[in-house]
Amino acid sequence: MTQINASVPLLGFAAFSGTGKTTLLEAMLPKLVKRGLRVAVIKHAHHNFDLDEPGKDSYRLRKAGASQMLISSRYRRALISETPTTEATLPYLINQLDQTQLDLILVEGFKSLDFPKIELHRQVINKPWLFQDDNNIIAIASDIKADTTLPQISIDDLEQLTDFVVQYSSQSQHQPIKTASCDDVQPQGLLSVEQGRQRILTQIKTIDNPLTVELKHALGHIVHTDILSPVNVPQHTNSAMDGYAIRGADIDLSSYTVVGQVLAGHHYPHPLQAGEAVRIMTGAPVPQAADTVIMREQAHQDGDTVTFNLAMGAIKAGQNVRLAGEDLAIDQVAVAKGQTITAPELGMVASLGLNEITINTPLRVAIFSTGDEVQAPGEAQRQNCIYDSNRYSLFALLTHLGCEVVDLGIIEDSETALEATLNQASQQADMILSSGGVSVGDADYIKTILDKLGEINFWRINMRPGRPLAFGHINDIPFFGLPGNPVAVMVTFLQFVEPAIRKQQGYQDWQPQTYTAIAAEPLRSRLGRTEYLRGYFKWDANGRLTVKTIGSQGSGILRSMSEANCLIEIPPQQEYAQIGDNVSVIPLEVRL
Ligand code: AMP
Ligand code: MG
Repeated sequence: MTQINASVPLLGFAAFSGTGKTTLLEAMLPKLVKRGLRVAVIKHAHHNFDLDEPGKDSYRLRKAGASQMLISSRYRRALISETPTTEATLPYLINQLDQTQLDLILVEGFKSLDFPKIELHRQVINKPWLFQDDNNIIAIASDIKADTTLPQISIDDLEQLTDFVVQYSSQSQHQPIKTASCDDVQPQGLLSVEQGRQRILTQIKTIDNPLTVELKHALGHIVHTDILSPVNVPQHTNSAMDGYAIRGADIDLSSYTVVGQVLAGHHYPHPLQAGEAVRIMTGAPVPQAADTVIMREQAHQDGDTVTFNLAMGAIKAGQNVRLAGEDLAIDQVAVAKGQTITAPELGMVASLGLNEITINTPLRVAIFSTGDEVQAPGEAQRQNCIYDSNRYSLFALLTHLGCEVVDLGIIEDSETALEATLNQASQQADMILSSGGVSVGDADYIKTILDKLGEINFWRINMRPGRPLAFGHINDIPFFGLPGNPVAVMVTFLQFVEPAIRKQQGYQDWQPQTYTAIAAEPLRSRLGRTEYLRGYFKWDANGRLTVKTIGSQGSGILRSMSEANCLIEIPPQQEYAQIGDNVSVIPLEVRL
């Protein structure tokens, strides 16, 4: 018998009935989905099942004689094929799936066929092992030990089973359409976005350069070393309410003697005695021996005696107090190395009494523009010229990432000027970015000089916009030659420069944030190319994220970036997205 294959990993669950295959799959599927896998299930049923209900249109049309009934809405589609003579084979069924949209196919049943399977076994079912007669079994999930060298997992250890399946799906020797086609479809000389990014990242080193700054200057920067709490937060066990503090041992008393009052910032100087209560304000330290606070709204004080209305809530020992060190204990890590200081971190570090933070020194990034036609804003416009917008977009993007920008202006069209600029930039900056002049067949002189000065690769990335990209080092400083088109500059920045900057800054495995949205209009791309469309996403009335393109999609048209709130990313293996299909969107607002 020939081994059954699919273009994505295929994995079966083989067991005798009663073992709980469906229950297990039902519990595992949410975990697989959460790990980012797109999973299909093919299930074998022995009986004459029916999905349709009498009276439904599809049912009526099928019963009227449609041998295949395909019903579709924007939410789901279903094909019901009547198979009066023979049952469909597993390969045929696999072919019915849209494998371009899948990472894994799980199969329930078909246990006599040749494809990789996990055997599920429970002792109570009292059936023989399957692995002894089926060498397609790759692992055993059981509640007893089997006599085999195959990997064995407890059938009740869902986490470990899920790990196994995830690992299987990523390591199995299939040619997943998702990645294989991505690289296979690249024409000669073109790199995919992912290939380009990986080549760049392997050449980028994290810069370890600590800098101690006053609190407010740390905003937006990355913590260089773990910040440990020098104190307990809160310092003392204190009241979470305005009310009365009592001892937990006294909660059953019917009344208490009020012996004093304590305000925030003060304390009650004696240990509380049996039957005593102290009026206490929110944030004030709970008196010694007291551990319970009853809110003021429940209290009735008459002279020195207070009683509590238990109809408003029974008193529980320990209630309404915040324990010393509950927020942070002495020497606990308050902000870990690698974290960015934002509003809560800044407040938290201040709450520890610290007035300085050691951050990674902000990166210095040098930028300049090239091109005879490019002139600085503020000058009178010359014939056939355009104003330089790239330096300004780059300035904004870099500032947002916490970098210091060294603006080298527009470099005139002379070899000596460019050479001097690049040498100077490599002395002053941790990274150098230029825009323009890197297109294939471009008459610009920048390529010749770059070739002379450093090791620079000129790549054509199979993406739109943003095809030409140069990357290399000048005097050991990473250099990016970005395209000239303003939209291409921003898209290539987000795809290549930002990941490189994040790595230099010290983020571990930084990934751009993406969301999945539903296409609200048909979207086109070209097979092999990653398309970045300017999009606008919004939540529809049903709370689903939907996306449409916005503005003109020309790569020189900056206004489309301004109107957009996201880039829609159509990956290389996808030619189009239909209305209702899931697409990836990269939100722009959070970064620009
Ligand atoms: P290039 O890659 O040099 O062939 O440039 C591609 C397009 O981008 C041309 O239309 C240039 O005029 C334009 N361009 C180049 N540099 C800039 C810049 N700094 N600001 C705005 N547009 C530019
Ligand atoms: Mg040019």
